[in-house]
Amino acid sequence: MIIGVTGGIASGKSTVARAFEALGVPWVDADDVAREVVEPGEPALAEIAERYAHEQGPGVLNDDGTLNRRALREIVFADPAERRWLESVTHPRIRARLVEHLARLEASGAPYVLLVSPLLFESGQSEMADRCLVIDVPEALQIERTAARDDVDEAQAHAIVAAQMPRAERLARADDVLDNGGSEEEMRRRVAELDRRYRQITSDQSHGK
Ligand code: ADP
Repeated sequence: MIIGVTGGIASGKSTVARAFEALGVPWVDADDVAREVVEPGEPALAEIAERYAHEQGPGVLNDDGTLNRRALREIVFADPAERRWLESVTHPRIRARLVEHLARLEASGAPYVLLVSPLLFESGQSEMADRCLVIDVPEALQIERTAARDDVDEAQAHAIVAAQMPRAERLARADDVLDNGGSEEEMRRRVAELDRRYRQITSDQSHGK
């Protein structure tokens, strides 16, 4: 069983994933895999470099051959058609690699596995998951935790939150919701409850119930 885990910025996805891991549940982070597929030597990076080789200046590669994320971000931010092209190059490869990672984790005897992704719904990765768990915090707390963790002020944190999928829409698509508005201790208690439930579901499934 694959549980998709998502939530807005600083909702606590990584913190919650570590709490599951402490209970023996492994996870893969879609952001890590998204970075993997554009590393030097990867076909996606070659395609991207070729498409933007004509851009003024050094194109979208750094001198050492790695992707210049800022340059690429500026191009796709200014042009939705380029963003769609980029996604058509990267998304299928991210998906294929996620499938490999998840299969390896499942084969290692884990009771179930987590697919942690900030864009679980937006990217369609939710289709790979059997259930979707949304980490939910009130927006004010999300902004506070973003400003405390990252080098941004509250206005910038607010703008980031406003650009993401609205909280209500995310909640409407959740199978399960983890309220992370309390202490870390409370969060760990809720994770333990969910873990019991998920283990029950997989055990029922393997007994054909
Ligand atoms: P995400 O992965 O969703 O961006 P993180 O797991 O990095 O979010 O959490 C964002 C910040 O909030 C981190 O600094 C983390 O330590 C803190 N945090 C997460 N959950 C709690 C909690 N229940 N209580 C207090 N701080 C928390």
